[in-house]
Amino acid sequence: MLKDNFNRVINYLRISITDRCNLRCRYCVNENLQFKKHDEILTYEEIIRFVKLCANLGIKKVRLTGGEPLVRKNISYLIEEINKIEGIEDIALTTNGVFLGEKVTELKQAGLKRVNISLDSLKKDRYEFITGVDAINDVFTGIKRSIEEGLYPIKINTVIIKGFNDDEIIDFASLAMKWDIHVRFIEFMPFGDPDLWGPSKIVTSKKVEEVIRTVFDLEPTVNQHKGPAKMFKIKGGKGEVGFISPMSTHICSECNRIRLTSDGMIMPCLFSDTEYDVKKLIRENASNEEIMAFIKGVIKEKPQRKYELGQIKKCQRSLRNIGG
Ligand code: SAM
Repeated sequence: MLKDNFNRVINYLRISITDRCNLRCRYCVNENLQFKKHDEILTYEEIIRFVKLCANLGIKKVRLTGGEPLVRKNISYLIEEINKIEGIEDIALTTNGVFLGEKVTELKQAGLKRVNISLDSLKKDRYEFITGVDAINDVFTGIKRSIEEGLYPIKINTVIIKGFNDDEIIDFASLAMKWDIHVRFIEFMPFGDPDLWGPSKIVTSKKVEEVIRTVFDLEPTVNQHKGPAKMFKIKGGKGEVGFISPMSTHICSECNRIRLTSDGMIMPCLFSDTEYDVKKLIRENASNEEIMAFIKGVIKEKPQRKYELGQIKKCQRSLRNIGG
């Protein structure tokens, strides 16, 4: 079992498999958009080896993210191979859903268990304004097809940003009234341009919950995936709503994860720029034991908490590079 210096069990690995994305979400992508060169990105074989070593150490859950993971070719092969690794009990995907409709069957057959779909507006024109692409119908198709394929629970992640989409909170919550899905409201993290996307854009989870409670009755429920989301059933409804509050609460005490960036850096904490180059070790033919010792060392570098509430630690990498 992998534990950090604060006795937290680390059993969850989030892997950004690409820094490329088919969307250009205004708050996620900055103007000097540069992609890593292909040979800087970990190959699938390197990722699979890394996951095997992490599984030996006690990692049980893997989430594939990006950029947009579904823009990388042959992701089903990667899912299939990770699914074969002893000790890995859960493989999930975080996607913008645009290509999900056409791929979900093969992803499910490859062993994908769950999918989180990011969607920041239900309005066609606003979705296009936020993401730069007129693709909302593809995302709806992706959600529908994922439900048909029995990926359960379908989680919709929406980042509520003041003056941007905070007038759609009830519309999003209504999805969980009508459908057996989990709608999670994520607090905006002002990592980008402070003039455009600064802390003033944050809508706290408390505020979002207040707005929802003006229309719906919420009953606390258990988050069966033990993630950072505080979950509620909607009384009389089929689904759940959840709140992920990285800016207004400390979700650090239950932190159970490490991140691997697409260019092979291990990040012990989302809110820190500290990262450790495991790609170098892998490419310099380090032994499995050396790499496992390195991973254990990085886990020991996990901070108890990296920032004070309200203090904005600007990360050098945008979330596009980290994967959320
Ligand atoms: N492309 C995939 C997707 O859209 O889910 C995975 C990568 S994307 C970076 C992962 C998540 O990060 C998305 O839900 C996105 O909305 C969220 N995100 C990006 N920038 C963010 C920010 N500044 N604050 C909060 N969430 C952010």
